[in-house]
Amino acid sequence: MTIYNLGSINIDHVYRLPTLPQPGETIASLAYTRGLGGKGANQSVAAARAGAEVIHLGAMGTEDDWVEERLTAARVQTATIARLSNEPTGHAIILVDEAAENSIIIHPGANRALQEKALAQALKSIGAGDTLMMQNETNQQAETAALAKAAGARVIYSAAPFQIEPLRAVLPHASILALNALEARALFAEAGEDLPVEGLLITHGSDGAEYRDLKTGQTHRQAAFRVKAVDTTGAGDCFAGWFAAGLDRGEDPATALRHAAAAAALQVTRHGAGDAMPDRAEVLEFLR
Ligand code: ADP
Repeated sequence: MTIYNLGSINIDHVYRLPTLPQPGETIASLAYTRGLGGKGANQSVAAARAGAEVIHLGAMGTEDDWVEERLTAARVQTATIARLSNEPTGHAIILVDEAAENSIIIHPGANRALQEKALAQALKSIGAGDTLMMQNETNQQAETAALAKAAGARVIYSAAPFQIEPLRAVLPHASILALNALEARALFAEAGEDLPVEGLLITHGSDGAEYRDLKTGQTHRQAAFRVKAVDTTGAGDCFAGWFAAGLDRGEDPATALRHAAAAAALQVTRHGAGDAMPDRAEVLEFLR
């Protein structure tokens, strides 16, 4: 079936610095790289590389064609990405010092200027068996989730970055919540653990991941694969995209977890976020 993903598209500008700048200080960068980021784009690429048919619902500015080309190269369908003349493409300025400490600024730009009508049009064929993925980096989350749920689709929501208000608005329409351990703790503190969803996917970094099936009460646990991590940016997005793709192709949660953990293990051995997502052949080879 099809995975629709309502998600942010960011350009990640990464600067390596000797130290992070103090107020009033100017520092020359040692190295600069530019890559594809944004939780939405990362998850679209991850799910597409996992073999799913992925339609990205999002927005960008009128420039930066290379970003759309990179999504297309990963086989993400981009016809439903609006190009807005009054907003820039979302971007992140990422400062990393020698000790790998970072400071990050995100400018949402076009990611927060999505139009309800265009989204409804893009979702007109969504139905039972399809999936809508979402994260908390765009506007129009609750409206889009409601549409997809009413059409019978599975709605997988990554409540990241964690904010309780958007989460409360999406919750009645969500099937599965995808959270890292910190986000899960924040959610449980606000709303308890008895949530009105089918399942909870919780990732625990190098300690692995779990899927709690709230319908059966069963918890599936998956250890992380041991690798030499060099950059964990986007690991959670890789996991969520692969898990969604696994369910989409009919895998049971345990199998989807295993593939997602292998994909995320490979992803953290590479620099970058969206550009570092492994494909299905790489993951199957890793698991041999
Ligand atoms: P987020 O990026 O959202 O904070 P996590 O840090 O929980 O998410 O990582 C998501 C998944 O990525 C983990 O469940 C694990 O499978 C994998 N992962 C993350 N860090 C490592 C690591 N150092 N080694 C192996 N796998 C990792």
